[in-house]
Amino acid sequence: MSSSIEEIASILGAKRLGNHPSTIDWILTDSRSLCFPEETLFFALKTKRNDGHKYIPELYVRGVRNFVVSELPEKPGDYSDANFLQVGDTRRALQRLAAKHREHFQIPVVGITGSNGKTVVKEWLYQLLSPERTVTRSPRSYNSQIGVPLSVWLLNEHTELGIFEAGISEMGEMEALQPIIQPTIGVITNIGGAHQENFASLQDKCMEKLQLFKDCDVIVYNGDNELISSCVAKSLFTSREIAWSMKDNERPLYIERIEKDDKGTTVKYRYLGFNKEYRIPFIDDASIENSLNCLAVCLYLMLSPESIAERMAHLEPVAMRLEVKEGKNGCVLINDSYNSDFASLDIALDFMARRTEDKGRKRTLILSDILETGQPSKLLYRQVAELVHSRGVDRIIGVGEEISAAASRFEIEKAFFRSTSELLESGLLTSLRNEVVLIKGARAFHFDEISDRLEQKVHETILEINLNALVDNLNYYRNKLKPETKMVCMVKASAYGAGSFEIAKTLEDHRVDYLAVAVADEGADLRKAGINSSIMIMNPELTAFKTMFDYKLEPEVYSFHLLDELIKAVGREGASSIPIHIKIDTGMHRLGFAPSDIPQLIDRLQRQTAVIPRSIFSHLVGSDSATFDSFTRRQIETFEAAADALQAAFSHKILRHICNTAGIERYPGAQFEMVRLGIGLYGVDPFTNKMLRNVSTLRTTILQIHDVPAEDTVGYSRKGHLDRDSRIAALPIGYADGLNRHLGNGHGYCLVNGQKAPYVGNICMDVCMIDVTDIDCKEGDSVIIFGDDLPVTVLAEQLNTIPYEVLTGVSARVKRIYYQD
Ligand SMILES: *Cc1c(COP(=O)(O)O)cnc(C)c1O
Repeated sequence: MSSSIEEIASILGAKRLGNHPSTIDWILTDSRSLCFPEETLFFALKTKRNDGHKYIPELYVRGVRNFVVSELPEKPGDYSDANFLQVGDTRRALQRLAAKHREHFQIPVVGITGSNGKTVVKEWLYQLLSPERTVTRSPRSYNSQIGVPLSVWLLNEHTELGIFEAGISEMGEMEALQPIIQPTIGVITNIGGAHQENFASLQDKCMEKLQLFKDCDVIVYNGDNELISSCVAKSLFTSREIAWSMKDNERPLYIERIEKDDKGTTVKYRYLGFNKEYRIPFIDDASIENSLNCLAVCLYLMLSPESIAERMAHLEPVAMRLEVKEGKNGCVLINDSYNSDFASLDIALDFMARRTEDKGRKRTLILSDILETGQPSKLLYRQVAELVHSRGVDRIIGVGEEISAAASRFEIEKAFFRSTSELLESGLLTSLRNEVVLIKGARAFHFDEISDRLEQKVHETILEINLNALVDNLNYYRNKLKPETKMVCMVKASAYGAGSFEIAKTLEDHRVDYLAVAVADEGADLRKAGINSSIMIMNPELTAFKTMFDYKLEPEVYSFHLLDELIKAVGREGASSIPIHIKIDTGMHRLGFAPSDIPQLIDRLQRQTAVIPRSIFSHLVGSDSATFDSFTRRQIETFEAAADALQAAFSHKILRHICNTAGIERYPGAQFEMVRLGIGLYGVDPFTNKMLRNVSTLRTTILQIHDVPAEDTVGYSRKGHLDRDSRIAALPIGYADGLNRHLGNGHGYCLVNGQKAPYVGNICMDVCMIDVTDIDCKEGDSVIIFGDDLPVTVLAEQLNTIPYEVLTGVSARVKRIYYQD
């Protein structure tokens, strides 16, 4: 749906500079996602860390002519044919535009909030309701102050039902989201401790979330949840309620029985006096609860219990990610084969276009018909073709009757097939070489058969790294800091095992101030791979000064000997003013100048120009434990005094930093000008030993399964005794991959199809054996060594060590695979 720039200016109440007629179809807030410059309106958002106004010159060169700004450019003359809409607050303006857009639609809209399960409930409602309605929903988990307006903007004249999620992290945010979503049906999934830091209590958070529902016709929630029930009662809404309950048969939706077996769960319920049931192919409690929330919405929308039962039985797990895999013949596969709609196609193509590591490769898109859009297919495929052209796709392989009929719209290399099997039989797939292949298809097309065919099948062990989780963790800690506090991100030890380059690149994209590695070679490798951020070297070797100068790496300096050698080396190179970072020993007694060395250090520094102190820092020995609080405070005081003394001797500002991950969490008053974030980035909260968002998953597959009689043993030295006839599976991972040998003989376990499988016998160098007697599994099934459902903290406890050691122990021969959800 298009709007003219005049209309938008008037909705925003903006002051307009430039008077050029324009029609707007697309809204852009992230310059990297630009696709249709002529029809795009760019909102220059200001965040704590960044300012969208910076990207205006670049976007103008790329063809964008319409901008919403809070400050006009210095030289408006440089943008002779552009329109600038000036507003006080660009984020508010974006929200207002979306709210206005929402008002055009008199349709049911589901608004989903809660601490967990929002995206699953949204996707399942889509699976349950889209067969007879055209649904517009939030792409992936766009649920923030920016994501919600961008989602709601997708509503169009064909939409019959909207489903949007709303996530908040502080008070007042829901008030901004409510008018944008204006839900008629409200769902609150649950209330937990996530993002609690900005709320005084769980109740405050719950009340804030319920603000979303103030004009709803109906509210759906778990009536057995006392907190939610009491908050709903307190909110004094006049809306209808469908509170489902397993305990109270007076509730409108009474859940009589929940029966789990090994294949799924049967739910028996009573609604409006009728007894009905359905079954889902999941057995975990979160899935059951999510299905109950979906049930209530479907019943309210008058989907028949028979249709509900029929569709619940086929609910698919929600894969919330774009997987990148290695394909045959040097191809890279981006697998998004579980859904296909216009918005997610756009996101996937954007993802493909941005992968700098694939520059120069041919880009191929395998795309099925896009189903259930409600749009006339002529118009739909014209838009798809435009999108495909503008995102730089080199070849399209279309599958399905409708897309085949639109073949002539695609002006690039192309091939079309009426069905997936026709494509599989054609032999075309075996001819793909060194390409990036995006596989995107509606479920009905079973594109998993295509990805299966293209995938390089190696029965290997891989470490999967979720880059979005890393960014979420980064932001989690950023939110604890003052906006001006700088951040060093520790990518030493191959980014705690996750792999330096991809992690550094992601952190650079998110504009962290410094990266830190242990030795100069690690820093040089990052530079060679194209990392431009400032890099700190924590243990500069005397032999590596040249590398440091060549690659602009900034050494830490902890002793007079190191300082003198460095100054000499800088002199030999004819360089000067090399930034260095001064380390003070305040109690760790590892490396560093003693506080009493400061006067002599100042004297030495002032009598030379080779190096210049950029920062001064120290390291806390026990910031993750309350036991050491008084010692930690003393370290901080000692550090501050040393830093003051050094600063007093120089006119330029010297940055101070002492907090590591636990320090950021526990000593907000000690953030000075900079902090150093390590383990928290990778998902472990060192204070609670709980997980933030898990980043790394170590995964392998079952190579072979043996039936072993009770009297036999398993593995070396006959250590693996069996107390019954057993099924034993062998996995291609051993201590040389970083699977600690102490987990053997039942001291640890892995997960096979979600169930615990203990290690049997001694772990070998390259292989280990597990007991799968009670687990339904077969050769080729995937096995999780650690990941979401088996956190690395659990392994660390079993091994009586710290998560750092488990993470960094995954050896270099284990392939790292990166993805974004
Ligand atoms: C590794 C390291 C950190 C990061 O510590 P985390 O506990 O992982 O946050 C900070 N500072 C120094 C000097 C380090 O060596």
